[in-house]
Amino acid sequence: MANILILEDDIDLSSLICSHLLSMNYQVDVCDNGATGLKQAQAHEYELIILDLGLPGMDGLDVCKTYRQSNELTPILMLTARDTEIDKVIGLEMGADDYLGKPFSIRELQARVKAILRRQNLLLQARQSNNTEDIISCRGLLINPAKRLVTCKDKSVNLTAKEFDLLYFLSSNPGKVYSREQLLDQIWGYTNSYYEHTVNSNINRLRAKIENDLSQPKYIITLRGIGYKFDEAMICKNEAVL
Ligand code: CA
Repeated sequence: MANILILEDDIDLSSLICSHLLSMNYQVDVCDNGATGLKQAQAHEYELIILDLGLPGMDGLDVCKTYRQSNELTPILMLTARDTEIDKVIGLEMGADDYLGKPFSIRELQARVKAILRRQNLLLQARQSNNTEDIISCRGLLINPAKRLVTCKDKSVNLTAKEFDLLYFLSSNPGKVYSREQLLDQIWGYTNSYYEHTVNSNINRLRAKIENDLSQPKYIITLRGIGYKFDEAMICKNEAVL
């Protein structure tokens, strides 16, 4: 049974969400203040945080950003009355996993919650299965999808969840070219091309963590006007992996 934290200062709305999630047999905590909610989130194990953007105490974006610095796993579903494109982009950049603009239907919320928790379960199972056969070995880089660990020249690399997903997806399909739109759909589950720059900024951050020379990336190659690919020449096929 999943534990869900709702951070929402509109008491009527949080009660409504709470009662529907309880009816789905989830355990629910509710908090109406950003700063207190952040502490609550950090002090407990949650499987999902439903986070309002406009909160007293601490803004939802700051809660998201601060929480992500210490916890990469718990998914965040952001709620906002400010249903503008720019907010969505910023939310995704700050580490939110999904987005719901107010007003939304309770059915839509329930569907999103189920989908996020299902994805999260698959991810946790993959972590626990610890299947070393799935490790991708590249020149200077080891990618372990079961543990979601990446080492670069034997040093572990600290990647965000989306940076890892991007790297793993591209490297497990070496040589194949993907457009920003395809990556956005694949990694974020979004189809609106407005968010394509989210792909660029994640690729840039990822490169900064794994590439020696940013002016000449070796692993993820940019094909101008087309998209990105993982250089198949960097994959080691026969190297023994730990
Ligand atoms: Ca609010």
